[in-house]
Amino acid sequence: MNKKTVLDDKISNKRVILRADFNVTIDDGKIIDDTRVRNTIPTIKYLLKNHNSLIILSHLGRPKFEDPTLSLYPIAKRLEKYLGRHIIFINHLREDASKKTKRLKPGDIILLENVRFHPGEEKNDDSLARQIASLGDVFVNDAFASCHRVHSSTVGITKYLPSYAGLLLAKEVKSLSHTLDHPKRPVVSVIGGAKIIDKIGLIKKQLDCAQTVLLGGGIANTFLKAKGIMVGKSLVEEACLNIARSLLFEAASKHTALILPIDGMVLNTKLGKVHPLEIGNLQKDEAIMDIGPLTIELYSEYLVNAQTIIFNGPMGKYEEKRFAKGTKQLIVATSNSQALSVLGGGDTIASIANKKVAEGITHISTGGGAMLEFIEKGSLPAIDALN
Ligand code: ADP
Ligand code: MG
Repeated sequence: MNKKTVLDDKISNKRVILRADFNVTIDDGKIIDDTRVRNTIPTIKYLLKNHNSLIILSHLGRPKFEDPTLSLYPIAKRLEKYLGRHIIFINHLREDASKKTKRLKPGDIILLENVRFHPGEEKNDDSLARQIASLGDVFVNDAFASCHRVHSSTVGITKYLPSYAGLLLAKEVKSLSHTLDHPKRPVVSVIGGAKIIDKIGLIKKQLDCAQTVLLGGGIANTFLKAKGIMVGKSLVEEACLNIARSLLFEAASKHTALILPIDGMVLNTKLGKVHPLEIGNLQKDEAIMDIGPLTIELYSEYLVNAQTIIFNGPMGKYEEKRFAKGTKQLIVATSNSQALSVLGGGDTIASIANKKVAEGITHISTGGGAMLEFIEKGSLPAIDALN
């Protein structure tokens, strides 16, 4: 990466402002999955080892006000568990934050409350950026999953402090670039999820660089309907039918295989019963909720023979166990493949069954939207902003 990382300069005896992405799902005060917290620990430990103090900040969710259910306090407790030291939790940026940061000694760690509690954050407000910057001497960005956001704590702050990439950010960039820059062919992309709108950029890009794009999830339903196939009560984005048609046309003109499911796990919405059914045979009260066994077999075949795999988005409504199989099985096929593989997206990662499956994947990205935009554009605004 063409930006300085924390390894490139000797950062020691400094008050380091560390932007992390601790945007995890918290349900009733409990952290559901702390991958993003765990993956930031190496950077924190490295900076502590070099006699720095830390002022860590992150956002959580999309607060409209100072919503206590979106407090980072549970994260402070989780960090204490992983680091075995006390974390000073500061719940606002007013005077006491700057007083406390002035008194920091090497090894001390402050976690600031959800940075999006400040209305200026998402507007990249300059005075907020300056205020945060005034708390420390150096800025380290380790929040890969937030780097597509032009906010005060990701981009604005870099104007005021020497800034570096953290170890997680550097690893994400290195792994993704390595896979994407000169990908070995055949490149196979698996794209699923609910909304075409979120994934148009990725699909377009993959039509250029992949030989095969395998579609699943709600996205595939819209493509099926665009081709005039009956999809009954399946989730479809009516407003995107024309986009789907033009992507089908683009695929054909680029000679990229854009492949749609051949069967589905189909729910009879009247009777509540589920059965596998070939696409084309759907009745009006039925809905495609996952890819079916024939599609799993077909798609797995492509994955086994791939040299590069890009995977984003679930193949079905995986939150329900009976519709989780398609996503799970294709992730296993990806893990078993010899290909270099990158997999990302909050919902996608949730379908990795166990550690062994995870180990077979070359790079599991902490980024959802950030990973998509990185694949599409090759960089992200908050990475470009590092100096
Ligand atoms: P990611 O977070 O991995 O990028 P998305 O957010 O794009 O994935 O999509 C995840 C959502 O898509 C899930 O909530 C899932 O239930 C939904 N989904 C996928 N396939 C279907 C389907 N066939 N019908 C209804 N919802 C679906
Ligand atoms: Mg999602």
